[in-house]
Formats: sequence, C-alpha cells, structure tokens
Amino acid sequence: MENYLENSDFIQVREILDKSGKIIISTHTNPDGDAIGASLALFLYLKKRGFVVTVIIPDPYPEFLAWMPGAKEIKVFESDQERCKELIGESDLIVCVDFNNLSRLNELQTEVRNSGSGKVLIDHHLNPADEFDYKISFNKISSTSEMVYDFIGESGYRHLIDKEIAECLYTGIATDTGSFSYSCNYVKTYLITAELFRLGIDGEHIHRLIYDTYSESRLRLLGYAVSDGLIVLPEYHTAYIVLTKDDLIRFNYEVGDTEGVVNYALSIRDINLAALFMERDDQVKVSFRSKGNFSVDRLAREHFGGGGHRNASGANCFMTLTETVESFLKLLPEFRISLKNVYND
Ligand code: 5GP
Ligand code: MN
Repeated sequence: MENYLENSDFIQVREILDKSGKIIISTHTNPDGDAIGASLALFLYLKKRGFVVTVIIPDPYPEFLAWMPGAKEIKVFESDQERCKELIGESDLIVCVDFNNLSRLNELQTEVRNSGSGKVLIDHHLNPADEFDYKISFNKISSTSEMVYDFIGESGYRHLIDKEIAECLYTGIATDTGSFSYSCNYVKTYLITAELFRLGIDGEHIHRLIYDTYSESRLRLLGYAVSDGLIVLPEYHTAYIVLTKDDLIRFNYEVGDTEGVVNYALSIRDINLAALFMERDDQVKVSFRSKGNFSVDRLAREHFGGGGHRNASGANCFMTLTETVESFLKLLPEFRISLKNVYND
C-alpha cells in the first residue's frame, strides 16, 4: 500500500463506509474532468457493492463530460434543491471528492455543513480544511481519480473496477495532467493507466469526446481570448487574459468553454505565471497557472481567498473586474525575482 493511505484515515473511512446505507458523493463548483471522473467512479463502484448512492454537485458539469458513465444520474443542487436537500437529509455519509474546503460547494455548503451525516474527504489539493470527520488527503499524485483507484483496490475490491469505472478514472487522470503533461512524473500513474487500458478503455475515443467536441463559438472565444484578451508582461514573466461579461455573451459562453484557456498564456517562452480573469454576474473567476517552483496555490490563498495546487489554482473574487486585475498587477513587483528563477531551488 502506498504510504499516503497508511498515513490517512483510510481504515476508518473503509469501516464507516461499510456501516453506511445511503451515501452522497459531492464535488466542487465548476466541476472538471477529475471532479466528475472521481465522483462517478466512486458512485459506480459503491452501487456495485449495493449501497444507495447519489452524486450531488453544486452547479452543472460541462457538456463535454456528459458522455461519462453515470453522468445522467448526477443531481445538480442549483436546479433541484428540494430533492437534493431530501437526499442529504436521508444520508448516513457524505464523501467529498477533489476539493479541500466546504466553501467550494457554494450554495450546497450550508446543506452539507448542517447535515448530521459523517463527512469524508478524498482529495489531492494542498491545505485541506479541518472540517471533515475523516481525511484521505495527498497532494503528490496526479488526480483524485488516481486516489479513488487506490481506495477501491486497497479496500479489497479491485475486481469491481470494470470498463465503465476505468473510463471515469482515465478521464480524471488525463484531464488533471493536461493529457500527461503536468503532475505526471509519477511511475505509478502510468502503471494504473496501463491497468485501465487492460480493462478495455479506448483512450483515443475518450480524448476525442473531451477535446474534439468544441462548439464553433467556443473555438472562436479561445481565438479572441488569445488574440485580443491577452496581455504579456515580459519583465514579470507573466501573461494574463481578461474576459468581460460582454465578451462571454458575444461568444455564447457555456459552462466549460474557458476550460484550458489560461494554459495558452503559460505556453509562451519565459512566461512563468499566467492568469485568466473572467467576469461573472457578481464576482470574478480567476485561474492561475505557473511553471516550476512558483506557487500559485500560495498566490491564490494569500491574496485572493482561493487555492489549489502549486502550479494550478483558482479563486472567486467579489471585487469588480478592474479592481481584481489591478490587485493582481500590484503584486507583481514583489514576485519579480521569484518569477524569474522558477527553476532554481
Ligand atoms: P481552475 O483554474 O481550472 O478553475 O482551477 C485550478 C485548480 O484550482 C483546481 O484544482 C481547482 O480545484 C482549484 N480552484 C479553483 N478555484 C478555486 C477556489 O476558488 N478555491 C480553491 N480553494 N481552489 C480553487
Ligand atoms: Mn483534481
């Protein structure tokens, strides 16, 4: 067994799970491939074991994940509040996957916080909050999906991982590593991935379903973001993209359409910090990405009330778009040296 399970509440989680009847699985707002992949893999596995399980998410998942096995059974709190409240009320256990802080559940957090059900965390983000009864938290791993693979296997049920569960796990691993281009220097990730292929998944097809299903307006939004929205500050090794509410309306924005946009800003040579600022109704959604040892988790946590991983983080700011961008720009002089030397230890 990998040390991280031994050093976590794994044994307690396994025991409490065995004693539960009705289980809720939940994941973070704006769910991505790993959030949905890990949730659905756990959902399909627990259903196979005979539990009554429901996945409840705060707001809708992007259309490019709708093909995933079990996706149609996901309940969205935003549009089905009464039923979700009932299900949470009847549950014995709530398993929180791929996030580290209940505030990431948005409107759903009050329901989860006030529920008497046990709360378990399975997650790979830095700095998990102290508001879960049991934690399996480890950040030196590709994805929460990889943790779910370990969790099922070490619980003694590896034989229950079938092709559908493998498809969910692969989606989580592939999307959280940018198709094996970051958080991917661990041999174990590839051994698990090989196992998933042995179970019959079609990696090429999954890749097409996730990445080659853009709407025309999504691709044009990407083009606009990169050609008009991008600002490059070579002296700070920083590039950022700003998208206003009007930009999003103009390109018929749908959930998930800006997924990956920030990575284009980081793809410039010698740019070590990238940001995307997206104007929403009453807040600004910020995404940060970095190269090397510059921690955007710290940047998001200490200055924007967000968090994430060392090289990928995000936040929601309740300032105007201009104020948010200005507060970011004000910080850059302080980071000038560290942004220059991201590969020095
Ligand atoms: P993205 O920029 O793709 O939305 O998020 C990048 C990473 O940061 C993901 O791992 C995501 O879970 C995390 N993240 C995004 N927004 C927030 C936030 O508001 N708070 C925290 N704690 N993490 C966030
Ligand atoms: Mn993840």
